[in-house]
Amino acid sequence: MSLLAFAAALALSGGDAADEPQACAREIIVLGAGQDAGAPQIGNFADNAPLLYPSSLGVIDRENGQRFVFDATPAITRQLAMLEEATRMDRTGPRALGLRIDGVFLTHAHIGHYLGLAYFGREAAGANALPVFAMPRMAQFLRDNGPWSQLVTLGNIDLIEMEQGGFTIVSDDFGVLPITVPHRDEYSETVGFIMMTPDKRALYVPDLDSWDEFAASSGGTLEELISGVDYAFIDATFWDDNELLDENGLGRDMSEIPHPRVTQTMDRLAELPASEKAKVHFIHYNHTNPIRDPASEESALVEARGFNVARRGDRTCLSR
Ligand SMILES: [Zn+2]
Ligand SMILES: [Zn+2]
Repeated sequence: MSLLAFAAALALSGGDAADEPQACAREIIVLGAGQDAGAPQIGNFADNAPLLYPSSLGVIDRENGQRFVFDATPAITRQLAMLEEATRMDRTGPRALGLRIDGVFLTHAHIGHYLGLAYFGREAAGANALPVFAMPRMAQFLRDNGPWSQLVTLGNIDLIEMEQGGFTIVSDDFGVLPITVPHRDEYSETVGFIMMTPDKRALYVPDLDSWDEFAASSGGTLEELISGVDYAFIDATFWDDNELLDENGLGRDMSEIPHPRVTQTMDRLAELPASEKAKVHFIHYNHTNPIRDPASEESALVEARGFNVARRGDRTCLSR
């Protein structure tokens, strides 16, 4: 390369250097960290805390020029715009234009995790055979019920069934393993995912009833899951059992409401080495959970105990 061409190339690449970690071949970006309904919660007109999008992770594979989204939330329009803005990259191939994503992975049929599929239909994107990876019951639910069935019959989405214990090979360098977790499964089973690259792995379990139930049904534990990955994005729906009570101690009785509390999960993992705790990124927090505010005492406590709170826009490198 001539010196002139080298200088021109440097000038071209210089603009993005600050926010575009080019050294990272594959990375995760947090597109949302809230519970299904996000925040402000519907009807909470006085909520002035920072906007919360429902939980979703984007995966950018620069080496293969691909992007994937985990969970299709009601905020998907803004989340795809965010993915685009955060990860400008030249793309070639059949999906270079339009939505500029190469596939969507679904955890389950609760509103925060799949309603965004509606935007792939003819009223919005009119997508063409966008790969949507789903477990068998989830896929059946989409095929059998409108408006989702129309996405299938019109060919907007191409449903690809995953199976428990079955590793989905996305490319030579990226694969996804679904893990069934206990949750109230009215319409679909519920899964989390382990995203695998040759270098690093990430766990995404935004929604489950309890880690003890997971152990009872799967024979595996949260601690084992964490030890098998480099990053663990896990359910942080509620902070503790007092969260839905008002200042007079009145409100919803939480004893019947599942989800591991953040305080319980931190207690459970307290004896792990610091390097294991540092893998944990709490995600899917309810609008009532004080960790949604980065300046709260509770957010500081999570950090002080050696864990992390996932925040929209966070980026973690999976392979260099
Ligand atoms: Zn959820
Ligand atoms: Zn759910």
